[in-house]
Amino acid sequence: MRKFLIKICIIFIFICSLFITNVYGFDKKIEAIDDSKDSKIIYLTFDDGPSCNTGSILNTLKTYDVKATFFLIGNQIQGQEAIVKRIVNEGHSVGLHSYTHKTKSIYSNNERFIDEMLKCQDEIYRVTGVKTNIIRFPCGSAKRLNSGFKEKLEYQGFKIYDWNIDSGDGIKPKTAPDRLFKRSIENKMGKNPVILLMHCDYCQKNTCKALPKVIKFYKDKGYEFKVIDKSTPEYYFPFKK
Ligand SMILES: [Zn+2]
Repeated sequence: MRKFLIKICIIFIFICSLFITNVYGFDKKIEAIDDSKDSKIIYLTFDDGPSCNTGSILNTLKTYDVKATFFLIGNQIQGQEAIVKRIVNEGHSVGLHSYTHKTKSIYSNNERFIDEMLKCQDEIYRVTGVKTNIIRFPCGSAKRLNSGFKEKLEYQGFKIYDWNIDSGDGIKPKTAPDRLFKRSIENKMGKNPVILLMHCDYCQKNTCKALPKVIKFYKDKGYEFKVIDKSTPEYYFPFKK
């Protein structure tokens, strides 16, 4: 009888341990799902290329194994085809940033704007075979976009991407690298995803210097680096009133 009771106890303990393991495993699974909800995303974006600095930016991105999005100016592509091909071949995304970047004429009327984007699209296609429809307004869409214009852009298949954090290198390219870094990580509102505006024209040498620290910061914070493509939800500033 005593032996029988011991056997019963052993079986009971065994069944209990199985139950606890299952529950524990289940909890772990739930935790994993919750973790995914907290995922943080950053889109590194570089405007105004290609230029003599674009290669340096690409080298840094390669070193840290992260991808970015380049909004290119169409009339800068001729003669710099190799660097544009390199952007695409290394897995980055390309977008349209007008053909001339001459804001006075680009924004003189909507048709002019669309022509500039289409011309830029043709130029990128000529060099890379990629037909991209993601666009960034030169100097941003603020006070330039309204619902009627948005409809016209949609008709052309364009998707708009402004930014929510500005490194400050566009207006003041000579800003010290450490200052650019600080501005690039300033996110008091906790924006997620982060769409970080940077530039890679010939004058943005300090951006090249600041970039490694910016990437390291976001990597350490657990951000995932993604490229903007046609599946990325649009992001644009509020329409002008
Ligand atoms: Zn620009």
